[in-house]
Amino acid sequence: MSVVVLLGPPGVGKGTQAALVAERFGGEHVSTGALLRGESSSGSQLGLKVKDLMARGDLVSDTDLFLCLESHLDRLDSSESVLLLLDGVPRNVSQVGRLDEVLRDRGMKVDKVISLTAPVEELVERFRKRWSCGKCGAVYSFESEPGVDASCSRCGASGKFERRADDGEEAVRHRFGIFREETAPVADMYAAKGLLQSVDALRGTEEVFASVSEALKKIL
Ligand code: ADP
Repeated sequence: MSVVVLLGPPGVGKGTQAALVAERFGGEHVSTGALLRGESSSGSQLGLKVKDLMARGDLVSDTDLFLCLESHLDRLDSSESVLLLLDGVPRNVSQVGRLDEVLRDRGMKVDKVISLTAPVEELVERFRKRWSCGKCGAVYSFESEPGVDASCSRCGASGKFERRADDGEEAVRHRFGIFREETAPVADMYAAKGLLQSVDALRGTEEVFASVSEALKKIL
């Protein structure tokens, strides 16, 4: 199974693109943010530990992150999948090496890194409008708060739209700061290894997807 890492600042659309690739190419989308949010809402010991930290926009410790990621990877049935799409990891330089080990132990390696790019000001504007379905997690952009009868076009749930705990202005600003300081150097490391391809994410979802697909053709 080929492994693709999706990099990019908060709100750039990593989750949306990963979900599209998984659906159309038959891949496994692993979002560390979604895994950790799942832990947090399950009330597990790990979830309780990371909940406040995540709401502030801080990173969870590498130890907790890999505990969560490795147990998920070990539960995946990858027999049908051609691709493993990693969305949210690595997020700092130390996670690059640790991820290599975790993949190597499972007979895999990072085959491609796609960096989705967009100017920060545009992304901040996206956060103002960002809502997600509380049932399936699908992400939407709404000018104003959706009404109680608004329904999710993916899973059909109605009146379930919510804002993520870490999408408030202060947490968003903090997440961008962490991206700039801790995650941006990760892209430089992958560029030095010749694995990085950048994609302009300030376009419509399908246009971005076309560029992402093009980048993936070389490894599929
Ligand atoms: P976004 O990319 O939009 O900021 P994610 O859903 O990927 O959001 O992540 C949400 C939160 O989950 C992060 O702000 C952080 O607290 C935690 N998290 C996700 N991935 C990692 C990681 N690799 N290392 C540490 N914390 C992480």
